[in-house]
Amino acid sequence: MEQNNYNEIETERVENFDEKSNGLCVCMICKNIFIHPCQCANCKAHFCTECIDSWVSKNPGNCPLCKSFRKISPHPLLNNLLSSLKVKCAYHPKCEEVLEYDFLLKHEEHCKFNEKIPCEVKKRSHNSFSAEDFVNNSTY
Ligand SMILES: [Zn+2]
Ligand SMILES: [Zn+2]
Ligand SMILES: [Zn+2]
Repeated sequence: MEQNNYNEIETERVENFDEKSNGLCVCMICKNIFIHPCQCANCKAHFCTECIDSWVSKNPGNCPLCKSFRKISPHPLLNNLLSSLKVKCAYHPKCEEVLEYDFLLKHEEHCKFNEKIPCEVKKRSHNSFSAEDFVNNSTY
């Protein structure tokens, strides 16, 4: 599996998810809410850019629905639909934020419960205990 820099948006995280109208916001490859959607010019289906890119790399020129994939920008109405979603932060229940779709990825990147970044910082402060401290403490 490829590593994403962002979290998948499972439909369970969408507070106002409505199967009827928001079904259009779900990627048929990953079954999650679109991240950076794009559209197939031939069959008009939408996919996450990352999902369709890895699909096309395994099935050159194809999309899951048709035989001639050509990537175009998503339909403006899809962007409107996505913008109306209210999504829980990926780090819930620790983080209680609920964000509009347009702000979600930015928030998660900087969320204080996102442990991908603080790990590095922690490691560095740990190493700052120097050998000198140790020696000073052991001589009395
Ligand atoms: Zn997808
Ligand atoms: Zn297609
Ligand atoms: Zn958060």
